[in-house]
Amino acid sequence: MKTITLIPGDGIGPEIIEAVKFVFREMGAPVEWEEYPAGETALKETGELIPPALVESIQRNKVALKGPITTPVGKGFRSINVTLRQMFDLYANVRPCKSTPGLSSKFDNVDLVIFRENTEGLYAGLNYYDERLEIADSVSRITKKGCMRIVRAAFEYAKQRGRKLVTVVHKANILKKSGALMLEAAETISKEYPGIEWNDKIIDNMAMQLVLRPEQFDVIVTSNLFGDILSDLCAGLVGGLGVVAGANIGDEIAIFEAVHGTAPDIAGKGIANPTAILRSSVMMLEHIGEEDLAKKLGTAIDRTLAQKELCTADLGGKANTMEFARNVVKQMELIEK
Ligand code: NAD
Repeated sequence: MKTITLIPGDGIGPEIIEAVKFVFREMGAPVEWEEYPAGETALKETGELIPPALVESIQRNKVALKGPITTPVGKGFRSINVTLRQMFDLYANVRPCKSTPGLSSKFDNVDLVIFRENTEGLYAGLNYYDERLEIADSVSRITKKGCMRIVRAAFEYAKQRGRKLVTVVHKANILKKSGALMLEAAETISKEYPGIEWNDKIIDNMAMQLVLRPEQFDVIVTSNLFGDILSDLCAGLVGGLGVVAGANIGDEIAIFEAVHGTAPDIAGKGIANPTAILRSSVMMLEHIGEEDLAKKLGTAIDRTLAQKELCTADLGGKANTMEFARNVVKQMELIEK
């Protein structure tokens, strides 16, 4: 039995997490949950956005599954998601984007994975304001260590999954120093992975290529801001944020998450689509070595999504959150037969 920290989060978070708990129970996954609030819910219950008990639980269990979280606007709060990533040095944000047969989207031939550096660049927290000059500076700090480890993570993933091509995305024509660091990292690390090809693309061209011919990409690795934008762009290619998984992975700790928000407009109605958090759970099962269960759950989700009438309203279906979860379980039972 593996103990995993569970953060239901705010808004629709608890509803979609309930769906995950149900599916895991029904499939007999060897997982025990240790549940803690974070965000607005935690602020109300404990007076803190990230309670120390939650931090200790993640440190102990090394793996967490997280619903969406509200960061209260104003009052000087820093994003909870950014804080968690930096607190546990979760330097790789991994976002697989694959077309699902039968699910309506702009393309039907996308199968790529984005590795976004998650701790540096413009998100390093180096923001300054000079009152006298009325100038705001946001410093984009990139380190050699940061480039090396994110590029290595991308190549290692490609090797383990039998993927063939790593594309390094940068803006080295203008951001010469930081772009060069990323390219040098790729030059060095690619030598350790002779079976994997690599190329590079400038970010603006990359954005265009992705919406014209996304099928040419396999594994993509890039810095924090470019990765933030590209990973949502790629989610859009395969059906949107409601259907893609996300993970924040470090050398020791990993947090798997739904990448959409707390959807306050539908919270409490029991109609949210749990696909994104279920697919993140598939990544989590792979991460803890439960590959067979991961494969079965992934296939059951795909088969459910292929039948519109089994899906939630945002995908044109009539199912509510728990009905969708039951439909996934039924598909799993059909796979077993
Ligand atoms: P949102 O993703 O919550 O909602 C955008 C639209 O998508 C809404 O119409 C919503 O109903 C719909 N939607 C989102 N997830 C859905 C799901 N699973 N099923 C069905 N429909 C879904 O984005 P927002 O409105 O910009 O943000 C709301 C709050 O979420 C904000 O407080 C923001 O800070 C937070 N947020 C958190 C995360 C996170 O924790 N990972 C990410 C983004 C936004």
